[in-house]
Amino acid sequence: MARTPSPREIIPERKRSKPQPRGKPPTLGGLKDYGHRLAAGCGECQHTAKLDLDALIGRFGRDLEAIALNGHLRCQRCGKLNGRIQVLTA
Ligand SMILES: [Zn+2]
Repeated sequence: MARTPSPREIIPERKRSKPQPRGKPPTLGGLKDYGHRLAAGCGECQHTAKLDLDALIGRFGRDLEAIALNGHLRCQRCGKLNGRIQVLTA
């Protein structure tokens, strides 16, 4: 009796809506009010790029949490959707 082994699959981790332990995550509007800027770093090729905060606010609104963009930023160098938000406070 032949038995096919079940292949091991990688199950993608589900997004957990876990409350943040401290404070509120910064929103796009909040970052702008503080004069902060945003950059994105690629987790694949380490490429970094500055982001246009005004353009992001125009597109997503002031209330979007900056970290919500993680995983939605396409790298201009390698094309992977692997960008991670970095807040530039200086
Ligand atoms: Zn990249």
